[in-house]
Amino acid sequence: MQVGMSVPRAKAAATTPRSVTILGATGSVGTSTIDLLRRNRRHFRVEALTASSNAASLAALAREFGAAMAVVADEGCYRDLKERLRGTGIEPAAGPAGLREAGARPADWVMGAISGASGLEPTLAAVAQGRTVALANKECLVCAGSLFMRRAAAVGATILPVDSEHNAIFQALTAGPRSDVTRIIVTASGGPFRTWTREAIAKATPAEALRHPNWSMGRKITIDSATMMNKGLEIIEAKHLFDLRPDEIDVLVHPQSVIHGLVEYRDGSMIAALASPDMRVPIAHCLAWPGRIDGPAPRLDLAKIATLGFEAPDVDRFPAIALARRALETGNGAPTVLNAANEVAVAEFLAERLVFDGIAALVEATIEAAAKRGLMREPASVDEALTIDQAGRALARDLLPEIASKA
Ligand code: NAD
Ligand code: MG
Repeated sequence: MQVGMSVPRAKAAATTPRSVTILGATGSVGTSTIDLLRRNRRHFRVEALTASSNAASLAALAREFGAAMAVVADEGCYRDLKERLRGTGIEPAAGPAGLREAGARPADWVMGAISGASGLEPTLAAVAQGRTVALANKECLVCAGSLFMRRAAAVGATILPVDSEHNAIFQALTAGPRSDVTRIIVTASGGPFRTWTREAIAKATPAEALRHPNWSMGRKITIDSATMMNKGLEIIEAKHLFDLRPDEIDVLVHPQSVIHGLVEYRDGSMIAALASPDMRVPIAHCLAWPGRIDGPAPRLDLAKIATLGFEAPDVDRFPAIALARRALETGNGAPTVLNAANEVAVAEFLAERLVFDGIAALVEATIEAAAKRGLMREPASVDEALTIDQAGRALARDLLPEIASKA
């Protein structure tokens, strides 16, 4: 493991109240973040809030917190948002430029909780200003991880991992020098199909795939958890966040979701971080970092839980993990294409135009086709990452009829 970057050092103590921007305020992570702000009103002030198209919820939140700006991604919702904010002094905006402006506005802390590669530009806008960015939006790092982390390092932006596994590892990494870390372990619940046969998984419906045993999350990540592509994306996320080699990142299935991540040191010590499966734990950690605030998540009753189980991941039933690992090892834009194809595949599965095991099949076929057509290269700029992302999406859509008819 390389010594040096990755676990950020605390900057000078932040002033109180800290100003906060939430990119993706109406989603699952956004709502958990809002819940923490409500419980700690004295300590935080809201600068900007964004949403995809739900102007009503966004306007209500912006009014409640007296935000300076509220942005809807969907330009068709701008008038509605403007109407709802009339007379408040809250600045309404819409579209990609509005989202970038929300990211760039002066704030002490920015939550990146947009879902998918759509979050890349607004989150990078916050990074470019050298902000402290709490990053939930893992697709940013899968789509353009090297670029993202390079930009952050160049301007001294702090990236705090919100994803529960990465947050656990981030906390466990404080137990020893980075040069003494031999590997990290990202745990996985195994999702709703952990005990299902391959044949049953192949035919799983969206309703079945959306029933996650431990976590309540947005639809895209819930499907990613069912395919276990989420763990694949998290391997890539960990590589970039912690500057690791792929072989230093292991996945361990742990159905109770009590241990979220582990760090192994050269002396054989393994440091684990435990918490209830409630995103308000890692979000609270990031909100208060490098300090701590009270958290509302239920406390773990380990005597009641009694037993913690562990299994090796089954890559035969869950091929997405191996696909993501291979994409990471291949590099040269393969993770960008993987992410793009997966976003298309998940949307098609949810729309019932693709069966469950067609998701991994479509991702694999898209990566193969992209390689054959010479589409893949390491994105050197955001524009290049987005071009590869768009090409990957187009290719996945072209391949969809063939994969859908085969699967
Ligand atoms: P979600 O779908 O519940 O919310 C997404 C948010 O982004 C919403 O506010 C939505 O309005 C907004 N949004 C969606 N598409 C957009 C677009 N094209 N442009 C602008 N805004 C858009 O998702 P979530 O579950 O909160 O997840 C958010 C991110 O956090 C994802 O990257 C996910 O992988 C990651 N994450 C989520 C959890 C969780 O528990 N939900 C845990 C770890 C990581
Ligand atoms: Mg996670």
